[in-house]
Amino acid sequence: MVGGTSDKSSKPATQAVNSGRRKEWTGAVVNPPVWRGSTHLYDDVADLRVGVKSNEDGKFFYGRRGSPTQWSLADALTEMEPGAEGTMLYPSGVAAISCAMIAVLKPGDEVLLTDSSYDPSRSFADAFLKRMGITAHYYDPMIGADIASLFTDKTKAILLESPGSLTFEVQDVPAICVAAKKADIVTLLDNTWATSRFFPALEHGVDISIVAATKYIVGHSDVMLGAATTHQKYWTQLRRTAQQLGQVASPDDAYLAARGLRTLEVRLKRHEQSALKIAHWLKERPEVGVVLHPALPDCPGHEIWKRDFKGSSGLFSFQLPDADEQSRAAFIDALDLFGIGYSWGGFESLALPVDPEKYRTANPWSQAGKLVRLQIGLEDVDDLIADLAKAFEHYNNQPS
Ligand SMILES: *Cc1c(COP(=O)(O)O)cnc(C)c1O
Repeated sequence: MVGGTSDKSSKPATQAVNSGRRKEWTGAVVNPPVWRGSTHLYDDVADLRVGVKSNEDGKFFYGRRGSPTQWSLADALTEMEPGAEGTMLYPSGVAAISCAMIAVLKPGDEVLLTDSSYDPSRSFADAFLKRMGITAHYYDPMIGADIASLFTDKTKAILLESPGSLTFEVQDVPAICVAAKKADIVTLLDNTWATSRFFPALEHGVDISIVAATKYIVGHSDVMLGAATTHQKYWTQLRRTAQQLGQVASPDDAYLAARGLRTLEVRLKRHEQSALKIAHWLKERPEVGVVLHPALPDCPGHEIWKRDFKGSSGLFSFQLPDADEQSRAAFIDALDLFGIGYSWGGFESLALPVDPEKYRTANPWSQAGKLVRLQIGLEDVDDLIADLAKAFEHYNNQPS
């Protein structure tokens, strides 16, 4: 049969092409069409009654439960994550993180978050969860198995992010998950940087693997979408909570994400190669201090990255040890091929000033100078290097 779902034993590139493309969802065309709809029509009242009762995945019910367009994407993401039972889609990455946390926490619980967490994850914990009577504590991302020393009998969940998306510490995810499992604590990982392609999270012990699909899955900077994938133990809980909170990803957005997914393998490889070339080039520049790229020895957790990851993607930071706010801005402003903006994972390169000292609480950030974060896109890498070289020239010639 042509199309249809791929074999679980297929290689990643084959899975990226074929997964989720069930004949019943695609019909005669290659991509599952966009099924827009709120109302799903039933044959008769008896049929309607059956639909209400079953709440099955992949069955028509009502627009909020999705249509073949969303089911196909969710199915593909499940298939690409070894050990997974199912995937819920959300209208953004932040929605995926917050809803997954709500699914596993209740008033009175404590949750541990890595100090390298994405800032909106922190805000969700510090503002919303606090209001719900759930207390957040932050831990050093390099804590490893010692995380057990932070457990109380109220600790119910851990939010990991590896590498951190500003400072890139690679966490000892397996060690943290072993400790958590012993204490019956749920582990949630923000896996946006690596995706299941470079870090199959559930295989490393994670319970719920979350991605901002907005980034690499969509890949074209034109859609907001989140996904949470989990194994059997938490699947019903995750799914029911998303339904109760009314979470739905639009069919148009799911369609575009599925389209992006088909080229994920080639895009990630190109992001990887170009980012590595630029990271090594930056390391040789006299203006640059540490290069926080998981595949370079400067990066905390580099050895763990070598042990656990199948690759590296296109996002990393570097330090300008002599920079202040103004000279860093002058460097970034002098770039022509790098846009200035949030988000990443699209085809285009981006540069962003990042200031981890503003967020950290468990282990304050005290490196000299300033950090710049780069998202390396799919442009010709030598053009990007020439652009960076030109910006350094400008940086070095600023009036003091
Ligand atoms: C962007 C991002 C998110 C949030 O995704 P949105 O789709 O923008 O809500 C979560 N985690 C990380 C690491 C991100 O970079």
